[in-house]
Amino acid sequence: MTTSHNLGFPRIGERRELKKATEAYWAGDLDRAGLEAAGAEIRRANWEKQRAAGIDLIPSNDFSFYDQVLDMTCLVGNVPARFDWDGEHADLDLAFDMARGTDEAIACEMTKWFDTNYHYLVPEFTQNTTFKLAGAKVFEEFAEAKAEGLTTKPVLVGPATYLTLGKVTDGSGLDKFALADQLIPVYIEILDQLAAAGAEWVQIDEPVFSLDLNDAQRAVIDKTYAALSRVGDLKIMVTNYFGELRDNLELFTQLPVSALHIDGVRGAGEIEAVAARLPGDTALSLGMVDGRNIWKTDLAAAKTVLAQVRDTLGADRLMVGPACSLLHSPVTLRNETRLDQRLVAWLAFAEEKLDEIVALARAVDGEVDSALFEANAQAMTDRRESSLIHDDFVAKRVAGLTATDYQRNSVYAERARQQRAKLKLPMFPTTTIGSFPQTRDVRKARAAHKKGDLSDADYDAFLKQQIDEAIAMQEDMGFDMLVHGEFERNDMVEYFGEQLAGYVFTKLGWVQSYGSRYVKPPIIYGDVSRPKPMTVKWSKYAQSRTAKPMKGMLTGPVTMVQWAFVRDDQPRSETVKQVALAIRDEIVDLEAAGLAAIQCDEAAFREGLPLRRADWDEYLDWAAASFRLAAGGVRDDTQVHTHMCYSEFNDIIESIAAMDADCISIETSRSQMELLDAFVKFAYPNEIGPGVYDIHSPRVPSTDEMVALLEKAVAVLPAEKLWVNPDCGLKTRGWAEVKPALENMVEAAQRMRARI
Ligand code: GLN
Ligand code: ZN
Repeated sequence: MTTSHNLGFPRIGERRELKKATEAYWAGDLDRAGLEAAGAEIRRANWEKQRAAGIDLIPSNDFSFYDQVLDMTCLVGNVPARFDWDGEHADLDLAFDMARGTDEAIACEMTKWFDTNYHYLVPEFTQNTTFKLAGAKVFEEFAEAKAEGLTTKPVLVGPATYLTLGKVTDGSGLDKFALADQLIPVYIEILDQLAAAGAEWVQIDEPVFSLDLNDAQRAVIDKTYAALSRVGDLKIMVTNYFGELRDNLELFTQLPVSALHIDGVRGAGEIEAVAARLPGDTALSLGMVDGRNIWKTDLAAAKTVLAQVRDTLGADRLMVGPACSLLHSPVTLRNETRLDQRLVAWLAFAEEKLDEIVALARAVDGEVDSALFEANAQAMTDRRESSLIHDDFVAKRVAGLTATDYQRNSVYAERARQQRAKLKLPMFPTTTIGSFPQTRDVRKARAAHKKGDLSDADYDAFLKQQIDEAIAMQEDMGFDMLVHGEFERNDMVEYFGEQLAGYVFTKLGWVQSYGSRYVKPPIIYGDVSRPKPMTVKWSKYAQSRTAKPMKGMLTGPVTMVQWAFVRDDQPRSETVKQVALAIRDEIVDLEAAGLAAIQCDEAAFREGLPLRRADWDEYLDWAAASFRLAAGGVRDDTQVHTHMCYSEFNDIIESIAAMDADCISIETSRSQMELLDAFVKFAYPNEIGPGVYDIHSPRVPSTDEMVALLEKAVAVLPAEKLWVNPDCGLKTRGWAEVKPALENMVEAAQRMRARI
């Protein structure tokens, strides 16, 4: 019989129960027992959903109060020395300390899990790192499910992935992969204990197989699985997901374990090769249901693939699951009553994906649920042919693009000359990144307006007053280029997505980003266009209130797509092109409305990089081109800015230059300007605003500090190319710290000017 199984279910609850409980616990409004009970209830509900759907092998330990990598850190006792730990048992409160920091110890770093928008807590290694079995969560949750009558498949982050994702923090030059010898025995203990508790399967996640691996990583993999395979009475499934195996295929298929899982969506082209190479009686789990997107699976097509593999391996060696954990999918479609029902018919969230998995497993064994398969085929046809998706105007426009659409009229040097003549900015011009503090009042007014409790006229008056105050403040402080403050915006993607054709927003489609922070990505379901201006009203109003240049403020095409669920019926690059055209329309309209400078944020430009180096160039080419397409419609004397709030540019500096923005603002204050290096080495030709004020902290930087940073910048870059600005937008900060910080920043610029 073909086995249906799951790699992981969303842990946030249908209505964000996990967030509510953890935040209440942190605030002291819920006690530990209450928190534990809330977690147990989510796990129970998740297991019940999977059992009811008919999943044969249900995971456990996929739940976490914060993060599964952090849980692994606790389980193997790898607690950084700065946390006050007895060295015995690493429990939940300690995990929260590591995730959130304490008065004495700063939090562990957080970074993106592969190419997802999920963030894990980075394991830390030093010369003193030792491991020991220090956690109980995986055993407790297995026992908890057992008590409910379920023999689950506990999930662990694998040793190779754990070591790969961690970093050496003591500057010792330690080879972290050498730690495998100490780490593997702890995994063996874990597996022994699970087997003793009655586990039949364990799932070990090793998505590093989707990366370019070096010899050290390969050696860890060899060692690990040679050792783990000797644990008796427990079947090990090693999973890869998020990409193809490519040159790791041989290594992967030779692993001496009971089952191997591959991503059948992103790695569809390798299914046959993997099946053909699978040794002995190893089972193959095919992830046929996309865990990273929200579209229904084409069941007929998936069944055909599965049937072929079944012919090769036999049903007993075939398993069906989602491509990756469903952690990255919203929980359920059931509550999306406000969505267009035609669209709902094309979608599957985590719960609906369970039904697809089970239907596929049964169907390959000959039990086809005809009603479900027919409805699915109908949905596939409807979607393909739907007028909701296809917009001839957009198609024609994209087809008609020529090389000149992707460039400004003149090269940067000529544009800079014209912009200088028009803007007459001083040396070291000062500006901010766009948003000002979103105070309680601002959020309250927006919410009241959305609910209908505040009239359009009153809301308009409120926003005007906010903008007026922000402008007066910037003028008083002596800013050279002003912003309106973004008071009307909830979020830099949602605000635009709500106004673009082809985008739709769910009511409860939350996905965990990190800890108790969830995001609700929009769904790009059809051709994207801009029916009418999106920001012109407020930018024009703001410009009318000042003689200083006002900066229009937009989100760039890559970011608009990267932070959304994206169409799977055309390449991402095509969708980005459509979004770029919509933004181009907006930029042209802003110019016509009298805005002399327009900023187009690309916060997600770097995170769009593919997992494999070999795929980078293709991505970077179309990503940079999309920015040029968005910006290519304006006159030479209109100044186009972009902003990226991170600072690792070494690998991508050429493409950043290829975007050809007149000015880029980046994050550099925390690295003491070291990260300007990439721009210096590359001799970046256009203007640049290295952030001098770290907005991630409530601390007010002094004028001296910012002058010191600017001096570092002047030492390596031409002074006439430098702008003075914070690291990022100020919306998460309070006015109490923002005002003095901005005053100091303007003063720092003035001091720099006085010297030349
Ligand atoms: N303009 C946006 C703001 O200031 C940029 C946000 C971002 O880069 N994350 O809020
Ligand atoms: Zn930013």
